[in-house]
Amino acid sequence: VEDYIRNYEKLTVLGELAAGVAHEIRNPLTSIKGFFKLLTEEDSGGKDKKYQNVIMDELSRIEQIVNEFMALARPQAIHLKESINIVQLLKDTMILLNPEASLRNVDIDLQFDSDAAQIECEKNQIKQVFINVMKNAIEAMPEGGRLKIRGESIEGFYYRLTFEDNGTGIDEKRLEKLGTPFFTTKEKGIGLGLTISNKIITEHNGEFKMESELGIGTKVIIRLKK
Ligand code: ADP
Ligand code: MG
Repeated sequence: VEDYIRNYEKLTVLGELAAGVAHEIRNPLTSIKGFFKLLTEEDSGGKDKKYQNVIMDELSRIEQIVNEFMALARPQAIHLKESINIVQLLKDTMILLNPEASLRNVDIDLQFDSDAAQIECEKNQIKQVFINVMKNAIEAMPEGGRLKIRGESIEGFYYRLTFEDNGTGIDEKRLEKLGTPFFTTKEKGIGLGLTISNKIITEHNGEFKMESELGIGTKVIIRLKK
């Protein structure tokens, strides 16, 4: 019975998500149609290039929304869990984000209590979580700042990673909405990063938590079972 309920809940969530995706895609589609129509009209007064750029941007946005949605809606039947050192995985993943961090004057400060952080997990999924979380932190510090990443073994059973930034922070009202699909405060945000991250960590029987204070910063805490 429990399984049945869980599957049913999953379907409901997916249905809501699908409705959200349709909604999110409608805006860029309307915009593409409008600008394409302008392009096909005889005299666009030399604005062709501008219209083409808008169309291209909106197509990229649709592509991104569909990609992120597929990552979320993908059936979880394929389990490719392997024993991974997540500290090493985090260090490898950071290489991808270092250019953006230095471009934005964000210092990344790493400290791990041990390198013995073997976790049974799906490597690419956990990597996806690290990217989402670190990207959010960097984006929350437009004037630069510091991202502190800490890793520690808890009671020998868990490995806990914390990502602490001194960026904009989030007020209490918005903090409640975090993880709701498509909730974003960014002009070009999609609002699926936290939903995906939360889902992945939960599927690994772990815990994903966020604490934040407006004007002070945000802390993401990820706990994974060893
Ligand atoms: P997106 O990054 O596309 O907006 P996310 O799901 O990754 O979507 O994040 C949702 C929202 O949560 C962001 O728009 C932002 O308002 C808030 N948020 C997430 N991480 C942070 C952070 N480190 N600092 C401040 N706000 C954050
Ligand atoms: Mg994000």
